[in-house]
Amino acid sequence: MLIKVLPVGLLSVNCSIVVDEESGQAMVVDPGADFEKIKGALEGYSLAGILATHGHIDHVGQVRSLKETFNVPFYMHPADRFLLNDPLWHGFERQIGANLPCPEPDVELQDRMEITLGKTKLRVIHTPGHTPGLCCLYIEEDKILIAGDLLFKGGVGRWDLPGGDLRALRNSLKRVFEELEDQVLVITGHYEETTIGWERRFNPYLRGVIS
Ligand SMILES: [Zn+2]
Ligand SMILES: [Zn+2]
Repeated sequence: MLIKVLPVGLLSVNCSIVVDEESGQAMVVDPGADFEKIKGALEGYSLAGILATHGHIDHVGQVRSLKETFNVPFYMHPADRFLLNDPLWHGFERQIGANLPCPEPDVELQDRMEITLGKTKLRVIHTPGHTPGLCCLYIEEDKILIAGDLLFKGGVGRWDLPGGDLRALRNSLKRVFEELEDQVLVITGHYEETTIGWERRFNPYLRGVIS
């Protein structure tokens, strides 16, 4: 398994390209902006699907362009359908060059679902809170978690946007920190990567949430 992380757009969304090297199959996660950059990074691989960790426009802004170019299924949790074309704030869709309308998901993510990419297995962990449908992807063999906006280095996803829920967020964080070991590398929705162990020790938002 190979993973390429491309920061895209105004808010530096981490778009991940997960590649099963043996089969050459790839999955693109959170293609929020910069279609040409994403397309370039996919060269030489066979794209099998597009996945959004959640429905925020800065994470799904180029789903439509990818679907039109590659004609592959789009995976997302159904609880975030209502967000797909919501600009969040006035003019934001233009600032990030979102290609709207975003298509509806072809495959609905569910908690503990397994997506296979050749021999690479991606496990879905439904972690609501930032949005109702936010899902992390866990690649157990390589101990990598693609966390969307659940967690950031030293922070957590905001819960004040439509559908946000602090109680649900705390429960989701609790679960992830119970299930995953310290050495797991976390690719966050924006900015720097981190590890479960670093966050367990230093993230102030987790005090009183995880034991
Ligand atoms: Zn978000
Ligand atoms: Zn985000």
